[in-house]
This record gives sequence, C-alpha cells and structure tokens, in this order.
Amino acid sequence: MIPSKGAIAVVCFDDGASRRPVGPVLKCLGLARGPDRRCRWHGPGMLSVHLDHPAGPAVMKRLRALPGVQRIAMIPLKRSLVFRRPGQPDSVVALPNGVRFGGGGLAVVAGPCSVESESQICEIAACAKEAGAVALRGGAFKPRTSPYSFGGLGVPGLEHLARAREMTGLPVVTEVLDTKDMDLVARYADVLQVGSRNMQNFPLLFKAGSHPSGRPVLLKCGFGATVEEFLQAAEYVLLGRLSAGRQDPGLILCMRGIRTFEPSLRYTLDIGALAVLRERTHLPVFADPSHASGDRRYVPPLARAAVAAGAQGLLIEVHPRPSRAWSDGGQCLDFRGFRELMEDLRRLAASGARRLPGALPRLADRSSGPGGRRTARALPRLADRSSGLGGRRTARAPRQGR
Ligand code: PEP
Ligand code: MN
Repeated sequence: MIPSKGAIAVVCFDDGASRRPVGPVLKCLGLARGPDRRCRWHGPGMLSVHLDHPAGPAVMKRLRALPGVQRIAMIPLKRSLVFRRPGQPDSVVALPNGVRFGGGGLAVVAGPCSVESESQICEIAACAKEAGAVALRGGAFKPRTSPYSFGGLGVPGLEHLARAREMTGLPVVTEVLDTKDMDLVARYADVLQVGSRNMQNFPLLFKAGSHPSGRPVLLKCGFGATVEEFLQAAEYVLLGRLSAGRQDPGLILCMRGIRTFEPSLRYTLDIGALAVLRERTHLPVFADPSHASGDRRYVPPLARAAVAAGAQGLLIEVHPRPSRAWSDGGQCLDFRGFRELMEDLRRLAASGARRLPGALPRLADRSSGPGGRRTARALPRLADRSSGLGGRRTARAPRQGR
C-alpha cells in the first residue's frame, strides 16, 4: 500500500564523505536502534526515513549541524513533492533557450514518432517551427512491442536531432529507454522523455531526475496506471532532482491514453485525469492525442478536448509522408493537417470558451449556473496566457467554410 500518513525526512549526505553520520541522523529522528523498514537509500548519498510526524525545528537544526549532512528536507506525505500545496501556483519548466512549459501557456511539441534520417527530421522541424511548435519530438531509441519492429537509429538519430535543433533553434524532446544510455541521451536532449512503458521503471525515473545535466524530464503515464500511480512515479523523478540539489521541479507530466474496454481507438485519452492532475499537481500537464488515438482523424478533436480540460501542452506526431513513416504512420498528421490543427488551437486558446447557441445571459447572471460559471472562469485563465500559443493572440483569421 502507498503510505500517505506521516512525513518523510530526506537526508542528503556530502559527496565523498568517508563516513556518513547515519547513526546520529537516525538517533535524531527517533530511530535509536538503527535502520529499519522505515529507511530507504536512494543512491549512495540520499536516505529517506518515514516518520509518524514531521520533525520539529529543533530536530531539524540538530540534523543540519551534523558534519557530513549536506541537506535535509521534511516532506509531509499528504503533500509530497508532486502535490500542489494550497494556493501553490503552477510550476513552470523553463529551458535555457526561453521555452516555457506549464503556467498559462499552451506549448506544442511536434515531430515524428521515430527519427529516420537527417533530412526527414530537419524537414519536419522546419514545418513544426513555422507552424508554431515550441519544441521538436522524435525517438532515437524506440520502445516497440515486437522485437522485430524498427527500434530507432540510436546515436545517429540523436545526431540528426541535434542537427535539426541547430537549424531551427527548437529544443529536442527524446526518449531515454535505459539507465545505461542516460549520459548519452542527456548530451543531445533538451528534455528527457520517459515513456509510458517505463513509467514504473523506478531506477530509470530516479536517474533521469538526478542526472547531473539537470535536463527536465517528460514523464508519460503508463497505459495501465492510475492517476495515483502516475503521481508516485513522478515523485521518484522529483526525489531524484532533490538529491541533485535542484530547486526547480523540472518535470512535465503527459497523459497519452490508457487501455480500457473501448476498442475504437488505440487507447482512451483520459480527459478526466487531465482535470484531476491539473488540480492535484503543480507540475505542467500535457496530453498526447497521437498515441491516445492511434488514428490521425481523431488527433485534432482529442487535442482540442485536452486543451479544454486544462492540458498545458500537447505532443503531436507529424510526418511529411505518414504512409511511409517507419513507425506510427497511422497517427501522424501530415504537414497540412498539422498546420490546420495549430490554427484551430490558436483560435481555441484565443477564445477560451465555446459559445452555446441562444441568447447569452445578462452579464450579472453569468456567475451562476454551469454555463455561466464556465464562461466566467475559463475566459480570464485562457486569455491571459503568457507564452506558447495562448500568448500569441495575433491569431490568423478563422478559415472559411469549416
Ligand atoms: C513516444 O512518444 O514516442 C512513445 C513511444 O510514446 P508512449 O511511451 O506514450 O507509448
Ligand atoms: Mn509513436
């Protein structure tokens, strides 16, 4: 069972300390008989201890004074790192080139499922940038259900991504499948993607979070995972970041569809979970309508639904010739489809709410009733979006005849 009561003392020891003062730390925390099942090491330098109650200021002061203790944090389990504290604003993940994920913006990350060649990824990157995407996605290491399906180009794929970044300035989001590839992928990626199949690969989560590069992580929800399990997986990444001494959360969550009894689409995009996540966590929440639907015809409606439910970003698969894509061609938008989707999103972000037919209630009445409340709440939030699509409110004129 996932513990939810009490607090966790997280103690980071000095790097290279020859003797870590584990005994004195545990004694301060009331575990005079030494380590027991409440203690857990996270890598060699970080220990967590599950306490019945948060330690008070006097204990914290004594702990901090112990030689060899570098940092200590007291985390109430009900409000562990991933959860939004009352009144806590949205966290923003900011990349060095100024791209921001989370907060009021709507960020679109676009690109192919797999990197196939330098010319393919550069062509897609140019289209993505021109249409308004803020980052480029593309896999060089691909998790595939069949061991005989294309598994990605590996290092050449990473090099092609770097070339596309150089050409367009778009930061690169790419997946890391294995802890042993972490250093390699972090050398090329601006954001480390941990895919749905690895959502509960706990060593990978911690290692991605604690990587010395400090690259932010984009974590996709497992297709058989609950919201609670997703949030606990995210906690591993945040704990990793804490162990590396990082103050910023540096984590983006992405819903990419779950497996349900409904077979019409590849997966079911859990729109309700998007709304729940927006409330429970301060982290940026994205949606991936491409993997959720598995069918390009349904990508635009799912994208719009996700934005309406509060998604702060979208991952969209795009390919110049989807029928010839080396993976996931059926769900890739072609360039025209992607541009049209971006126009739709721009309009959605600018308008903030959809109109119901019929007379609008008088202004004074708008604060009551479901329609009224929606208008009153949704408009300001969407209209003041400061980055990404919402910020660019110089939207093109709506297309005719649609
Ligand atoms: C991907 O985004 O390339 C991918 C494989 O997605 P998922 O992990 O959601 O299946
Ligand atoms: Mn894919």
